[in-house]
Amino acid sequence: MKKIVFSKAYTARLPGHVFRADKFEAALRLLVKEGAVSRGEVLAPALPSRQDLLLAHTPGWVKKNLEFNFSKEDSSAAELKITRQVVRAHLMNAGGTLAAAELALKNGVGINCGGGSHHAFRDRGAGFCLINDIALVVKKLLKERRIKRALVIDLDAHQGDGTAAILKGERRAFTFSMHNQEIYPERKERSSLDIGLKPGTGDRTYLAVLRAELPRLLDRFRPDFSLYVAGADVYRGDLLGGFKLTLGGIKKRDAFVLAECRRRGVPVTVTLSGGYAKKFADTVRIHADTVKAALNC
Ligand SMILES: [Zn+2]
Repeated sequence: MKKIVFSKAYTARLPGHVFRADKFEAALRLLVKEGAVSRGEVLAPALPSRQDLLLAHTPGWVKKNLEFNFSKEDSSAAELKITRQVVRAHLMNAGGTLAAAELALKNGVGINCGGGSHHAFRDRGAGFCLINDIALVVKKLLKERRIKRALVIDLDAHQGDGTAAILKGERRAFTFSMHNQEIYPERKERSSLDIGLKPGTGDRTYLAVLRAELPRLLDRFRPDFSLYVAGADVYRGDLLGGFKLTLGGIKKRDAFVLAECRRRGVPVTVTLSGGYAKKFADTVRIHADTVKAALNC
């Protein structure tokens, strides 16, 4: 059975960039090596259609992406040198989250071994993100009436500002973001629920807050679909996140989120999102552990 979505196209070359796009491929390779995933379980996504992209983005931004027609300002806004390969990677990542959402609706859990581009806005890229796969999936499934209420559980260390902005005013979507209040983005958007934590927050406080908030949220909003943005940048060895979670703490975070959703029969789509550990192998380990937790739930 196909359980996990991945494409080699995710691996765009970004020489010297703190965002290493090869982390997703490395995580999958580690999972195969450890016997947690067989190649036969991996589904290759398709590129999203223009129609799909227009659900989350303006015609102007979609055109720029599909026709590869960016300005210098677009690259600096995204803090990313936008090459053809980079655009293809971002489009494919969005296709991957769409495919993972289909798996989630079918099997209860779907995993994109990539995705989580939560900083992309309707009309522009930002924070290493071009296409907001999270908002796109939510918009598409709502429009097609496949779901009634979607919950975004964004636990990347950075606020899910693009997602919050795109889904603002959509009452059938609830955006929950728990993040470091002192880091990027400088100007925060308003999610349905924001929990800004202090820099240096460790396992204990982080997990206590999560345990207090998430079950209540699930019971009040009663989603029939959820999207988990499982950023690895909450790790204490991360260069950007500013939190102090341990590998064990992150495992507990993932297990808790997945269990709370599954307990209520809420399908979960998992995306991996950020991760910038000083040691590349740590980011890869965290992403692989998240996938493992999702496969086991
Ligand atoms: Zn992040």
